[in-house]
Amino acid sequence: MLNIDIVPCLQDNYSFVVHDTETNTVAVVDPSEFEPINNFIEKKLKKIDYIFNTHHHFDHTGGNLDLQKKYKTKIVGSKKDEKRIPGIDIKLSDNENFKLGCIDFKIFYIPGHTNGHVCFYAKDERVIFTGDTLFSLGCGRVFEGTHIEMLNSLNLIKRLPIDTLIYCGHEYTEKNLDFCIKYEINNNRLEEKKEWVISKLSKKEPTIPVILKEELSTNIFLRCDVLAVKKSLGMENSSEVEIFKKLRDLKDSF
Ligand code: ZN
Ligand code: FE
Repeated sequence: MLNIDIVPCLQDNYSFVVHDTETNTVAVVDPSEFEPINNFIEKKLKKIDYIFNTHHHFDHTGGNLDLQKKYKTKIVGSKKDEKRIPGIDIKLSDNENFKLGCIDFKIFYIPGHTNGHVCFYAKDERVIFTGDTLFSLGCGRVFEGTHIEMLNSLNLIKRLPIDTLIYCGHEYTEKNLDFCIKYEINNNRLEEKKEWVISKLSKKEPTIPVILKEELSTNIFLRCDVLAVKKSLGMENSSEVEIFKKLRDLKDSF
């Protein structure tokens, strides 16, 4: 069985401790920093077999070297980022499989936020770690890739089974929700969601994971092909990528 614990790090980052209980194999996804992860591991599982990095940014790899040193951990990341992921041992290509104990993971290249960004997808368990590509109700900034690349990456995730649980790298949900409400008027689901988000955050609980089905009906960045969104932006005749670029530009200064 796959067990996932959320470990808050830095200001608003999430790292994840992923445990295959059957074989007692442990991975940490995107360890932002050493301390919180180490505290969790010392209390509970006492070991880390692997680190999975979605991309090279410091807030996702900052704990790599110290954890590797202490726990003799193998670091797994994209072959494309072999020069940028600190301590990388296992370099994966697009569509490559990786076994965590008896759990099958597949990685997909999803460029846009960075050129070497990947996601880790466990199909049978319906779980995906999306790093800074897809957030709850938002998406990452386009730093290194093009808008078309980022849109294609989001569309790849969109095509997964709708009951897939999305674990993303940051707690940005509330601000993302305000953005969605502002630019997709008349989406009733968003107002309903607002209450839930505020109540979660007031209890200091994460708003993730989120289920893909829910994101498809609320996350405006996954809805660039929806007429209601185009209309709401006054861009009825624009293409999906034009809508995406417009939204991304608006969000960058929101
Ligand atoms: Zn990032
Ligand atoms: Fe980040």
